Amino acid sequence: MDLPVEKWAAYARRRPADEEFLHSLAARNWVGKDPRAALFYKEEGNRRFQEKGYTAALILYSKAVSHNSPEMSLCYANRSAALFHLGHFEDCLEDIDRAQAQGYPNRLQPKILLRKTECLLLLGRLQEAAGVISKVESKIAMDQSLTSTTRQILLRKISQLKVKAHEKENSPVSVPEALSKTQKDLEFWEENGKISSAFSSVSLNFNSCRGRHLVATRDILPGESLVKEEAFVSVLSPGKSLLLQDSAETTWDTRVTNGDLHCHHCLKRLLASVPCGGCSYAKYCSKKCAQLAWEHYHSTECPLGALLLTLGVFSHVALRTVLVAGFAEVSSLVKQFHGDDKELHKAEARGKSRDETRDSTAGMEGLSEKAAPLIPDCEDDGQYRGSYQAVFNLLTHAEKHSPEHKFLCSLSIVAICKKLQEADPTILSQGSCESQSKLKAHMTMSAELSPELKILGEAMLRHMLQLHCNAQAVTSIRESESGASVVADSEQVRLATALFPVTSLLNHSCDPNTSVTFSGTAVTVRASQPIPRGQEIVHCYDQAVELLMRCRVYAENFLSAEHMLVGEIEDHLAQGYATLGKWQEAARHLRRSIQIVEARHGPSSVETGHELFKLAQILFNGFAVSEALCTIQRAETVLSVHCGPLNAQVQELQEMRACLLELPRSLLHRVE
Ligand SMILES: [Zn+2]
Ligand SMILES: [Zn+2]
Repeated sequence: MDLPVEKWAAYARRRPADEEFLHSLAARNWVGKDPRAALFYKEEGNRRFQEKGYTAALILYSKAVSHNSPEMSLCYANRSAALFHLGHFEDCLEDIDRAQAQGYPNRLQPKILLRKTECLLLLGRLQEAAGVISKVESKIAMDQSLTSTTRQILLRKISQLKVKAHEKENSPVSVPEALSKTQKDLEFWEENGKISSAFSSVSLNFNSCRGRHLVATRDILPGESLVKEEAFVSVLSPGKSLLLQDSAETTWDTRVTNGDLHCHHCLKRLLASVPCGGCSYAKYCSKKCAQLAWEHYHSTECPLGALLLTLGVFSHVALRTVLVAGFAEVSSLVKQFHGDDKELHKAEARGKSRDETRDSTAGMEGLSEKAAPLIPDCEDDGQYRGSYQAVFNLLTHAEKHSPEHKFLCSLSIVAICKKLQEADPTILSQGSCESQSKLKAHMTMSAELSPELKILGEAMLRHMLQLHCNAQAVTSIRESESGASVVADSEQVRLATALFPVTSLLNHSCDPNTSVTFSGTAVTVRASQPIPRGQEIVHCYDQAVELLMRCRVYAENFLSAEHMLVGEIEDHLAQGYATLGKWQEAARHLRRSIQIVEARHGPSSVETGHELFKLAQILFNGFAVSEALCTIQRAETVLSVHCGPLNAQVQELQEMRACLLELPRSLLHRVE
């Protein structure tokens, strides 16, 4: 395969108009820091806080912090208050410490220390709480500036907290919930000897028509885990923005995106976020994530922020892949690829002919261990690992992409390379002094890309083409946070785009026998139906562009868009009635919505599972005990197949059942 980065780079240089246009687009995605924006976000945060919109306030304070607010300590203190109201006490404590580290004013100290005491009490850390209380008492005693009213209020609060502390001391110790959860998580893990991250129930096979593919080595039951894999690389999608209700239109954006809600490194939901020191875009759940991201990729990406947002997530994933792999690894594989090109073709041809003879003898022989050494891209010991080598060798299907598409990809990669050359290029060489000085020498010749950047460019272009068939959308169910609705309103959102080398071994099917769930940047592939021994394990890729088109045609024939709309209307009606407490009406509409979702996605699909969950909630709230129990059972069966037993909805269903079964008989008869 020929990836002519140099040719395109030369072409792009002759087309300055394209480049200028790109830079004018990028200017709109500016991600620098602006102290005026910080003040604006803090004021907006205060406004939302006063209206008790704590979640919105939390996000706005985080935006203020990410712009290096001149009033950093106040921003952290205000954010700690929002976190306190939302019940995130650990994070509240962290922000109190940050506020104090940033020089929180002395006159406000008693207030913040009392909040700290309350957090410590609620977390059961009684001794520390007692320590802080005595500190506040001495501060109040010494502070001459306090008015007598303020003093009175503070002292009353202290005595209240002391009572609370006393009650805590005498209450029985409860087992932390987290502990019982980890105990449940000890799923039997029988690792595969040949493929890391896969279970022993699958094996890697290869033949000329299916390429590499996974096959069941025994009969597999629905819900069984097949692959559990950490992403080689994942990039948070900026995603569509959710408007914070009732925000005034201004120069600064009060819209909330994935970038405000999730850690840019581990994808965890953000609370007391830590901003990047260099830009206002990257935010992390912890100092540790911020450091890891900086060390592995963000120090290079940070000055490219606006360009990467403009070029889109595929370009960003391509860049991060080479940064995570490191220059030495990338360079060795690119060179090997050029050197071994002919050798590789020979080896593939050998593999093919032997494979064909094996196919003709057919049967279950394909499952034999002997097959392993013939499979391309396994490492020397016959293992398939989720390493950079595995990523590098994923198929690009270069022949299937249109010339226009390939040109656009090349143009994007060239733009990244030129920007990297402008920015500090020493980061790229990852510690090698020799290549660092080489890169520095090239900086002066800005017209020509350095040989190092040409290598990186070639690898990035390769990754970009691979992504069209191998990218996996990392999704999450996001609950709406209106709080007004009694029934959970949830939607599936795309959090990130990632590469999973082992999961990529699954071929695509519009009628998959697996289903995937995500936890942070890890994927779990589970069987969604019984898979008999010897059957291929297939998966529906969200982004396999051409194949997706076929899926869509299939879906459209199956059910008209209008029909789906009716389903949505029924769903909204159900929510409306639920809010009014008219449970029977709500259930009636939801049952209709479920029929439509079942017809479209199948009765055991995850979509039907979510609808059944909503119905279970409505029946539970309406005390329709026997039907509720029945629906809980169905919802639990479907959701645990797709999402596993630890899923929040599955656990809530179990709690609902336990609660219904505990109801006194007399009460049941009265309501029913
Ligand atoms: Zn994180
Ligand atoms: Zn940054």
